[in-house]
Amino acid sequence: MKRTRIVDILSDATLVGQQVCVKGWVRTRRGNKQVQFIALNDGSTIKNIQIVVNTEKIDADQLKDITTGSCLCAVGELVESMGQGQSVEMQCESIEIYGLCPNDYPMQKKGQTFEYMRKHAHMRLRTNTFGAVFRIRHHMAMAVHQFFNDNGFFYFHTPLITASDCEGAGEMFQVTTKNLYKLEMDDKGNIKYDDDFFGKMTSLTVSGQLEGELGATALGAIYTFGPTFRAENSNTPRHLAEFWQIEPEVAFLELDGLMELEERFIKHCVRYALDHCQDDLEFLNKMIDNGLIERLKGVLADDFVHLTYTEGVEILQKAQENGEKFEFPVAWGCDLASEHERYLVEKHFKKPVILYNYPKEIKSFYMRQNDDDKTVQGTDVLFPQIGEIIGGSVREERYDKLLAEIERRNIPMKDMWWYLDTRKYGTCPHAGFGLGFERLILFVTGMANIRDVIPFPRTPGNAEF
Ligand code: ATP
Ligand code: MN
Repeated sequence: MKRTRIVDILSDATLVGQQVCVKGWVRTRRGNKQVQFIALNDGSTIKNIQIVVNTEKIDADQLKDITTGSCLCAVGELVESMGQGQSVEMQCESIEIYGLCPNDYPMQKKGQTFEYMRKHAHMRLRTNTFGAVFRIRHHMAMAVHQFFNDNGFFYFHTPLITASDCEGAGEMFQVTTKNLYKLEMDDKGNIKYDDDFFGKMTSLTVSGQLEGELGATALGAIYTFGPTFRAENSNTPRHLAEFWQIEPEVAFLELDGLMELEERFIKHCVRYALDHCQDDLEFLNKMIDNGLIERLKGVLADDFVHLTYTEGVEILQKAQENGEKFEFPVAWGCDLASEHERYLVEKHFKKPVILYNYPKEIKSFYMRQNDDDKTVQGTDVLFPQIGEIIGGSVREERYDKLLAEIERRNIPMKDMWWYLDTRKYGTCPHAGFGLGFERLILFVTGMANIRDVIPFPRTPGNAEF
């Protein structure tokens, strides 16, 4: 008999009174000698279907082996439920067991810590929490594509292997086919790369932005959505070594338009989650973070605050004078720490903040310089619980200014000539941003650790599964 997904069974009233077949994994089994109740989940929804088993119909010996985690197929009539907590249930007529589940199943007990579950990341996917998180992650990916497609952006694929080591963000992972046990050096003691796979030193990309700019200055508006890699040794709940990044890049976009795009995009994603992930959000709101749904709605309710970096620093310094304790110092010219960003968002304004016009020394070479000679048109979108969720900027489109900055920072020209060509041939004002997909998922799910919103996290010391 053809299988029906549980999500469809629970939403299609015409199935009541019909024979249905469900397949899934057992969450719990309880009951007595006469009647047993199996809660079955197939991953299509957070909700289980209750399978009511009359022990006269099904062999008791077969039933007692069915424990949490077992996989089975059940056939029977779908009826209105007498019990509480579900609208329909199945009066089971037959069960076929696909796989029993021995009692060393790591996800058996309720209330395991997330740290424990991370060590069993291959099995944690079957729990309610991770089911909810990864269904939401899927819907967020759809939201991203929908937003850009509807707004005339082209999905543009930038390379993952790159020969430029100047992308300007974090340490890179090297890519080589060289035999590391037999490395040849030149006279100066440098490794020879001319006989390596690409004939030069290559790495995994930290960002698709520079190639994204080539796309935007030809197609008008593009976005990337793919993995990026940073070998930064930062063991925080907000950093991964392999994370997915969304990087739109738009010709003829300037600072105000950039900030408007950032806000509209992220609100679209949050609204999409509220519209498409109701059951999973309600579960997470109940089990993980009681403020979650309210926080999501809060983001939609208000306009984001726009604040220059300089104004932000002034607010933080005033707060300090009034007794607020920060671990790291606040002074004009310093990079803001996550505690500073969260103070502005959570305590001072109580809504998302876009900081812009940052000191040029703490930002990348490609950001458009302001006339004050001190600041550049970079923007960071700061969110409650998360801190920085988006980093963006207007790009320096003036050839001479960009070249001077590249030289001032000693960035090797062998890496930059093609990038400079965009400014040499028909340059145009343009802007873009990068959003860490997992930071968005953190926000939308209320999970506390970025390792718990990507199926198989890569962090310093961990590349399991
Ligand atoms: P942070 O200051 O938080 O380390 P960044 O300023 O280095 O971030 P950008 O280079 O601006 O980050 O990258 C764009 C976006 O990518 C960030 O706003 C953030 O959402 C995300 N991001 C950056 N680094 C990581 C990481 N290691 N893991 C997950 N997401 C990241
Ligand atoms: Mn940033």
